[in-house]
Amino acid sequence: MSHLDMRQFMCRSDNYGVIVHDSETGATASIDAPDAEAVEAELRKFGRQLTHVFTTHHHEDHVAGNLRLKELFGCKIIGPKNEAAKIPGIDIAVAGGDTFSWAGRDVKVFDCPGHTKGHIAFHIPSEYALFAGDTVFAMGCGRVNEGTMEEMWHSVNQFRTLPPVTYVYCGHEYTEANCRFALSVEPANRDLQQRSIVVAAQRAKGEMTCPSTIGDELRTNPFMRCDSPDIRRLLQMETATDAEVFAELRHQKNSFK
Ligand code: ZN
Ligand code: FE
Repeated sequence: MSHLDMRQFMCRSDNYGVIVHDSETGATASIDAPDAEAVEAELRKFGRQLTHVFTTHHHEDHVAGNLRLKELFGCKIIGPKNEAAKIPGIDIAVAGGDTFSWAGRDVKVFDCPGHTKGHIAFHIPSEYALFAGDTVFAMGCGRVNEGTMEEMWHSVNQFRTLPPVTYVYCGHEYTEANCRFALSVEPANRDLQQRSIVVAAQRAKGEMTCPSTIGDELRTNPFMRCDSPDIRRLLQMETATDAEVFAELRHQKNSFK
C-alpha cells in the first residue's frame, strides 16, 4: 500500500486546507472546507475528484464550502455527531472512539470538546497523521468557546500519547503569535528558542509552518507542557493540577499582545 498524498494550502486569510488522496482507490478527502473555490482549485491542479469532506467542527471558516463542494463533486461529508445539526450537508456522523474505513485504512475519531462542544479530530494511524482542526495549533491551542477549560485540557492532553512522529495538521497558521506567547511562559526552553528561529525564517519567506509533529508539540507547545517545572514556577502554580495550569495559560493567551 502506497502512502496517502497530502497537499496542504492556505485559504481565506489564515486557514489551512488539506487534500488527502489515495492513488490506488482514487479516494480524495478535503480536511474541512474553508472555501469551496480554493479547495476546488487545489483539486483541479492535480486532476482530482473529491469523494469526501472530513469536517472537524461547525465554525463558518471550516464548513463554508461544504454545500458547494457537494454540488460540484457529489462528495460525502463526514462530521461530528455531537453538533451534526450545525454541519451543512452532513451525510455520516461520527464521534470519539469510532473507527471508520477510508481508502482501505482505519480512521480513528477523537472527541475534542472545548473550542466547540462537538469538535472532533481525525487520526489515520497508518499514515501517522492527525487532523486536529482548531484543537491543537503549532505551539498553541484553540480558544475555548463552547466547552469548559477542563474539557479542552482533556482534548489537548489526549494527543500526548500518540507516536511522537505523528504529523499534526491543524486549522490555522497562527504559529508566530503562538510562538511569542510560548516563549513568554517558558523563555529558557532551548527547543522553543530554536523553533522560533525556524518559524521566523519560514514566515519571512511566506512559507507554511505546519504540519508539525506530536514530538515538536511535546517539546514546545505550552498547552501540552502543563507539567513543565519552568512554566509552573513562572506562573507560581507549582502545586496546581495540569488542568489548572492549562486554564491559566489559556486565560493569559487570550489577552496576550
Ligand atoms: Zn473554529
Ligand atoms: Fe477556525
